[in-house]
Amino acid sequence: MLQDSDRIFRNLYGQYDRSLAGAKARGLWDGTADLIKRGHDAIVDEIKDSGLRGRGGAGFPTGLKWSFMPKEVKDRPHYLVVNADESEPGTCKDREIMRHDPHTLIEGCLVSSFAMRANACYIYIRGEYIREREALQVAIDECYDAGLLGKNAAGSGWDFDLYLTHGAGAYICGEETALIESLEGKKGMPRLKPPFPAGVGLYGCPTTVNNVESIAVAPTILRRGSDWFKSFGRENNAGTKIFAISGHVERPCVVEEAMSISLRELIDRHCGGVRGGWDNLKAVIPGGSSVPCLPKSTCDETILDFDYLREQRSGLGTAAVIVMDQSTDMVKAIWRLAKFYKHESCGQCTPCREGTGWMMRVLERMVTGDAEIEEIDHLLDVTKQVEGHTICALGDAAAWPIQGLIRHFRDEIEDRIKVRKTGRVSAVAAE
Ligand code: SF4
Repeated sequence: MLQDSDRIFRNLYGQYDRSLAGAKARGLWDGTADLIKRGHDAIVDEIKDSGLRGRGGAGFPTGLKWSFMPKEVKDRPHYLVVNADESEPGTCKDREIMRHDPHTLIEGCLVSSFAMRANACYIYIRGEYIREREALQVAIDECYDAGLLGKNAAGSGWDFDLYLTHGAGAYICGEETALIESLEGKKGMPRLKPPFPAGVGLYGCPTTVNNVESIAVAPTILRRGSDWFKSFGRENNAGTKIFAISGHVERPCVVEEAMSISLRELIDRHCGGVRGGWDNLKAVIPGGSSVPCLPKSTCDETILDFDYLREQRSGLGTAAVIVMDQSTDMVKAIWRLAKFYKHESCGQCTPCREGTGWMMRVLERMVTGDAEIEEIDHLLDVTKQVEGHTICALGDAAAWPIQGLIRHFRDEIEDRIKVRKTGRVSAVAAE
């Protein structure tokens, strides 16, 4: 189990003072100027060496992403954009950072922006996060008053401005290029890539978009060293990670733990176990609503990291673990997610615009059993036509949960169709 002394976020539950004084007492803003004096490339190298992978879902190596930014500022300024548009069902980790420990993020913004030679950073926060926005703005104002932001930020010699802007409730604005469009005042619609943001991003300038948690952990990694960070988790899956566990557990919670912790340990230790006991577990969605579910039969062995879950044909995503017990109607649960993605599709590309609605409608009939058995394979086929054939990952996010359902719970769909056709539950048992 991760020791308190190894936790990066010391005020995740808001028990302590979240102001600048409280943050300093917890070791934040300690020698920030010295971190910056190490130089742009040294910071990028240390983050690369730490093995930190993006905490927003895709798991792309953070230091490598930073290194894509130009090595010199020429005619266009550089920007860091922090993606705080946390809108995926089940995901609620960044909000705890922003409302209870905002200085971890603000200090991270300064250090990371410096590493990428950016004098300005924008935090794009989800519109519904009103209290989080207020807490963050208060903290930003405190930092300006204390000289930690603005000219010669924190006495580092680096001028740095931090802006907080909020969205209006569209999930798709969490996609990095849609977020940039929205920041520019346009409709939040994903851009075609290439060009990638590091070449042409915000206002046509070199930009890196990173998740809140990825940025907030950077100063601690620099202070404690990449070897310390690497000492947690398996190779290529380093560090500590915030998990958000929801659903059918005794005590849903958000907790920072070591990467590669086993699913069972996470649930038993921090959530008081599955409701009704471990054997009452039916399935888990391990990484937020966009990744395929895992059935109980695989959960006994499951560990939570990027590579393991990819091998299981699922994903760590945002590490939002959604637990479902035996009372769960899996078909209906996945239909509900399909409805979400259909609603949030921006409509630019045909497979997503048409496919998300089509998949949702077929699933809707499957919930009541009002479908044909052959339609299951037809549905699976359509998910494959959506997956990988769209501008952004929302198409994949809509397809994957349905693929997981068919892969692991096909019998549940079939049973329901048979019951509907015969009008007898015993017809299922007789098969
Ligand atoms: Fe829009 Fe969907 Fe295409 Fe993404 S995949 S750009 S959300 S239509």
